[in-house]
Amino acid sequence: MVVVFDPSLIKSQPTVTKFFSSAIEQGKLAHAYLFVGGNTSDKWLTVRQIAMYLNCTDQSKERSGSCGVREMPPESRCQSCRWIQEGKHPSAWFELKDSESTTTIIPVERARLISQELSKTSSYKRVIVVEDASQEVFHRPAANALLKTIEEPRGVMLFAFFARTVEQVLTTVVSRCQVVPFRRDGEEMLGPLAQLTQGRSTLIPSCLSASPDLIPHVATMKERHFFDWSRALTAKRGLRRHDAPSESENAIATLEALEFGKMLVDLIENEHDMNSVIDAAILTELQIIGNTAINEPNVSFYLVKLNQLAEQAKAQLERYVTKKAAIDSFVQEWINLRRNLVVQV
Ligand SMILES: [Zn+2]
Repeated sequence: MVVVFDPSLIKSQPTVTKFFSSAIEQGKLAHAYLFVGGNTSDKWLTVRQIAMYLNCTDQSKERSGSCGVREMPPESRCQSCRWIQEGKHPSAWFELKDSESTTTIIPVERARLISQELSKTSSYKRVIVVEDASQEVFHRPAANALLKTIEEPRGVMLFAFFARTVEQVLTTVVSRCQVVPFRRDGEEMLGPLAQLTQGRSTLIPSCLSASPDLIPHVATMKERHFFDWSRALTAKRGLRRHDAPSESENAIATLEALEFGKMLVDLIENEHDMNSVIDAAILTELQIIGNTAINEPNVSFYLVKLNQLAEQAKAQLERYVTKKAAIDSFVQEWINLRRNLVVQV
């Protein structure tokens, strides 16, 4: 994978950084992204490091990252990286915010000027940041001044709109963006899953007490046939290679997964926080097979993968797919992970 971000940002925003690194690597960067969630400083770091990667002139950037994210004295960095770092690259970095003015809205004039600048051809990969895209600040006239540019960009262009939630933003803007959910400050520290999937299952009780609202869900979920697989796994100590499951076993597993998925959707629709619901599902699995993971590297690996799957599902749920579709695909991929798990003696 290409190196786009510095290690501390990767640690604090694993899903977001992976998402963009892979988009850049595959040349599938979209023109416009809506960064939602509570962590403004991580949003700035993310968009700045993307801008540096796109414009860095250092030869070794593909191997070791742009000079902006490498350990090196600032004066040794290329001009693009230095200018973007300072927020004053005249041709590649544009900030749309109201900080200089006394009003709290983005002046339409400023949006028009940027739009004019962007209509010129450029050899630079231009990155435009709207720090507060809520409709009170990035209001309709200002948005309109930019919409055409977003739709028909000249050259490589990346718009990053920041907002706390999708609902705050004009739908004309949202509909042109891919939504990228950011983790809140310190959220990964609170998340029980990160610690658990390192095989430290003794942490289960303390993590659960940290999220008391999850406990009743975990108890209910445990009853489901979906977790028969997990119970069987722990019962078979010293399990030999899994025999390939028969077709009918696969069909039953799929059915149980869909039933379990329906339970998750019901919980979300009954106004339970969707992240907590997903966490509860994973915690249930961890409670049942956590101790096996300590002795069995493949099970540990399975739990790490499952944790990643959960993060992806959370990101999906915040986008425009229906909750049912997101959950169905989550449980489907979950049983695929189970099928691929090979436990050796
Ligand atoms: Zn550079």
